[in-house]
Amino acid sequence: MHFNKVIITSACLAALAISNVSAQAKHEDTEFYTPVPAKVTAGKTNSEAPSDAVVLFDGKNLDKWVMADDRKQPAKWIVSNGILTVDKKTGNIETKQAFGNYQLHIEWKVPQNITGTGQLRGNSGLFLASLGKGDLGYELQVLDNYDNKTYTNGMAGSIYKQTTPLVNPSKKAGEWQSYDVIWTAPTFNTDSTVKTPAKVTVLFNGVLVQNNFELKGPTQYVGAAAYRQAHGPAPIKLQAHGDKSEPVSFRNIWIREL
Ligand code: MG
Repeated sequence: MHFNKVIITSACLAALAISNVSAQAKHEDTEFYTPVPAKVTAGKTNSEAPSDAVVLFDGKNLDKWVMADDRKQPAKWIVSNGILTVDKKTGNIETKQAFGNYQLHIEWKVPQNITGTGQLRGNSGLFLASLGKGDLGYELQVLDNYDNKTYTNGMAGSIYKQTTPLVNPSKKAGEWQSYDVIWTAPTFNTDSTVKTPAKVTVLFNGVLVQNNFELKGPTQYVGAAAYRQAHGPAPIKLQAHGDKSEPVSFRNIWIREL
């Protein structure tokens, strides 16, 4: 009984102390008025770039892109009816501009008449940072996975050969699909070892498929991924995959540096 009284008395004293603090504190104490966030005009839909975005492809031309293997060459893929289509003969394309941390929107479509199976069916890819010929970069896979079996860490929405998408929200071939990506670039120590790994969040058709995933390094097609070279801001690259299936198309590509 005595023990219970002690507990009750202690609880009362604690409550009194809290109410005293509340009485002295003002609600203004926890309100901030600066810095004021910059005004941004949002797009009418998610496809449309916000006012502070860099539009990488607006349906008209590839002025912001070059050939990845020879950056002096203009990007040679096909632009027609507001759509960009891979030209597999020519190779990968990448942006002229380099980016560090960013938010990116891109829409892609596997053609309705797609043929092939597994990795040979509507394969392309979005390299979140292009690192040149040695390390290709960090690939967010593009593939027809509506009804197409492959290894799960090679599906659409995967960080290729590193992690499987949380779910599979793929649409049928012939329908437009979207990726919204939040990329945190890796940082490196002065001796080129990794200081903080790259992190990525991906919404696939508006559905979360990668939730702040920590990358193990740039994509390796054979063997384990690892950070082998330090790098700073890098271009965004799109893949011309060497399979024989009908080519993938893109539209509405915009990016916001963070
Ligand atoms: Mg690919």
